[in-house]
Amino acid sequence: MKIIMLGAPGAGKGTQAKQIAGKYQIPHISTGDIFRANIKEGTPLGAKAKEYMDQGLLVPDELVVELVADRIIKEDCKDGFVLDGFPRTIPQAKALDEALSKMGEKMDYAIDVDVPDENIVNRMGGRRACLSCGATYHIVNIPTKAEGICDKCGSAVVLRDDDKPETVQKRLAVYHEQTQPLIEYYSAQGILKSVDGTRPMDDVFADIVRILGA
Ligand code: AMP
Repeated sequence: MKIIMLGAPGAGKGTQAKQIAGKYQIPHISTGDIFRANIKEGTPLGAKAKEYMDQGLLVPDELVVELVADRIIKEDCKDGFVLDGFPRTIPQAKALDEALSKMGEKMDYAIDVDVPDENIVNRMGGRRACLSCGATYHIVNIPTKAEGICDKCGSAVVLRDDDKPETVQKRLAVYHEQTQPLIEYYSAQGILKSVDGTRPMDDVFADIVRILGA
């Protein structure tokens, strides 16, 4: 099962993607996580990506496409995968379709986690991330057990630079301009499914499971 998660930054697509990966036993591929891991390791790719990420801008397509194309040909992707944060532009979507068609494959579902902008702004201010292991929390909805400390690895959790209010506004503008057209793109392919992302996390996941089949 090959799934794309669509939705504005902060819509909760990452949380849902992780749950889908767990339930259906397929890899969760998050381009944001891959970039953050590269930043942490101090790689040249990380340094380049950071310049864009800190401004709320998208990393150029050519840096992302190859990364994903190389990842989805790995052995663990043979039964499917869930893409989180990719594609984010029409050229990325077209490149993905091409890479898959070379393997005689195609995407099965694009799930749009729909949340209005005003909810997003409130949510992102409360988001906290562990820069060490990548776990994400929310001060109200998914709090850490001990305040400010990651449940999984014990490091500090922080408000990511790209989750700061001014950057969030920029990311939303970028989302509407560059990523939202993908809804029409996948709708035209007949694989778009929408879920109401304003509902509680578990209800959203139940809706997704209904779409994908138990
Ligand atoms: P995310 O964790 O998915 O919200 O991604 C964080 C940031 O990484 C984004 O705001 C972009 O700057 C960058 N990024 C992640 N995925 C992509 C992508 N597919 N195309 C371009 N930039 C991306």
